[in-house]
Amino acid sequence: MQTEKLERMKLYKDLHVQVFLNKFISGEISELQPTFDPKFGYRYAEVEAILGGSSKVEDFLNKLYETKVIKRKLYDKILYCPNCGSQNISTHYCCPYCKSFNIKKGSLIEHVKCGYMDVEEDFRKGKKLVCPKCREELKKPDVDHRKAGIWCTCKDCGKSFDIPVIKHFCRDCQAGFTFEDVEIRDVYTYTLNEEVKGEITAGWIFVAPIKEFLIESGFVVEAPAFLKGKSGANHMFDISAYKKGNARKVTVMDVATATEDAVSEQPVIALFAKIYDVAPDSAILIAIPKLGDNAKKMADLYNIKVIEGKNAKGITNALKEKLF
Ligand SMILES: [Zn+2]
Ligand SMILES: [Zn+2]
Ligand SMILES: [Zn+2]
Repeated sequence: MQTEKLERMKLYKDLHVQVFLNKFISGEISELQPTFDPKFGYRYAEVEAILGGSSKVEDFLNKLYETKVIKRKLYDKILYCPNCGSQNISTHYCCPYCKSFNIKKGSLIEHVKCGYMDVEEDFRKGKKLVCPKCREELKKPDVDHRKAGIWCTCKDCGKSFDIPVIKHFCRDCQAGFTFEDVEIRDVYTYTLNEEVKGEITAGWIFVAPIKEFLIESGFVVEAPAFLKGKSGANHMFDISAYKKGNARKVTVMDVATATEDAVSEQPVIALFAKIYDVAPDSAILIAIPKLGDNAKKMADLYNIKVIEGKNAKGITNALKEKLF
């Protein structure tokens, strides 16, 4: 359990994972669904766009599933050609006698009154259905006549049967194969695991765009960042950053979201306790949407810079002013 959580914390540091999870949290995706492409088989377009290709998609989703970040639901089973690996497979219903797929599928009809049963074709007289035995016209389905099942006839050997044999045909390499040889794999839809949603807090949504902005501005960034304090304890900050090249001037940042209209003193106190031990060059509290008045006074006293904003754009703009 604990190791799973640690694994998740590591995953959350991955920018691809952050971008992916943001899509769920922002509501852009509620369920990740595969789409079928006859050439490539099943694909997850949103994930391919994030990873910049299809080769790592399966690993990416599996890792998130195994650590319980996302849940999955069976969506389909894919059949793979045992010869070439293609998913472009068709199903052939075949004659059990000569194995030909050139069969004709028909319905068996029973004339209720006289009990005569035969294939639909033999009842067909132009647009009408007429009983070949008693010559009466059949007019009301399920009253004077009913479907009594399926009857197939092989166009190659002429034999009739009710249950065909299933074979598969690869549309790419033209190989034919049966159930015995086919490789079957599960295809899933994915949703965010509501139980770990708390770990990906609302504030966390803002971490990814802030991190991206800092990297673009030439900072070396860690998010979350684990820094060792004078006491020997490790402290976690949402973000740590220092400018490339310069002697390391480390800025640490925490993101706090208001549960009511403004962020309270609590995140200021928590940040102060950590910077007291770690002693970074500067500390910033990012308050969404704003910091309460008492908390502001306290931040001032503790030498914590404050950035307020309603959305990622507002925050990165304010950050630009504080950092440059
Ligand atoms: Zn094939
Ligand atoms: Zn046959
Ligand atoms: Zn009849």
